[in-house]
Amino acid sequence: MHTEQSEQAQPEKFNLVASVPFVLVHLLCGLAFVTGVHWQWVLLAVATYVVRMFGVTAGYHRYFSHRAFSTNRVFQFALAFLAQLSAQKGVLWWAAHHRHHHRSSDQADDIHSPVQRGFWYSHVGWILSTRWEATNQSAIRDFARYPELRWLDRWWLVPPLTGGVLLFALGGLPWLVWGGFISTVALWHGTFVINSVTHVFGTRRYLTRDTSRNSLVLALITLGEGWHNNHHFHQNTANQGWFWWEIDLTFYALKVLSLFGVVRDLRLPSEQTKLAFTRYTAEQRAQLQQESRFGMYQPKPPVPTPEGTPMLSGFTPVMIKR
Ligand SMILES: [Zn+2]
Ligand SMILES: [Zn+2]
Repeated sequence: MHTEQSEQAQPEKFNLVASVPFVLVHLLCGLAFVTGVHWQWVLLAVATYVVRMFGVTAGYHRYFSHRAFSTNRVFQFALAFLAQLSAQKGVLWWAAHHRHHHRSSDQADDIHSPVQRGFWYSHVGWILSTRWEATNQSAIRDFARYPELRWLDRWWLVPPLTGGVLLFALGGLPWLVWGGFISTVALWHGTFVINSVTHVFGTRRYLTRDTSRNSLVLALITLGEGWHNNHHFHQNTANQGWFWWEIDLTFYALKVLSLFGVVRDLRLPSEQTKLAFTRYTAEQRAQLQQESRFGMYQPKPPVPTPEGTPMLSGFTPVMIKR
């Protein structure tokens, strides 16, 4: 259970014991010197990276954190399982923490803000700290009501361990090293750059109170999550690349799945949202240009609503049926 006291009791800096498995998986990549390299194993590593990155982006992020589309209960579980194959803890833990990131983006209590706690803390430090281990249940009540998701969240190591055993059974040590360890380490850092690099490197099109940016390179690495400034401007869309040139492989895959009825009600941004930047004043455009420079800058403090919660940017989403 998540309590303010349990969080306060834990130190914020990374925990040495808790970091052992994370460091160990990095070291086990060195077994590649034992197995050697074969193009088929490299292909396997790429394939297990791409499939699981889809689980992270479509599952952990767009579905469980943002409810950017709908699906049935069976595929919902499959998405959660696929996401957890990435070994990034339970689906409820992931989504609850991510919702917190949007509620307080780059403000003092944002857990993984490079401007608040430093680049490396936003990248891996917060994950290796025991302080953020608990899940704020009230932030994820909508999905915590499903017993199968609660089970998977609790036993979050079941999918990655199953994956590891399967790889070893099918292809021995080379498959485990390339499809398991190397692919997983790449996948971890490929995901973590969204918390660290996308708030430091890239350009800004929309005025948001955080330091989010857009980057094609990061969009390619993360199957579409590099359009992070779009995403912070309006969170709940199934696509994060909003223009035809903004490559978003996760969204293309979701579109294909929607043709087969596996997912439905993909939320898309309205034209008004997408073109909001065309209505900016010269002063606002100059500000965005300034903020698009490489490096960190101090974000604007949030404007409290009458209820006292920080106001989120963006507009009402438009539901588009397939
Ligand atoms: Zn962000
Ligand atoms: Zn998000």
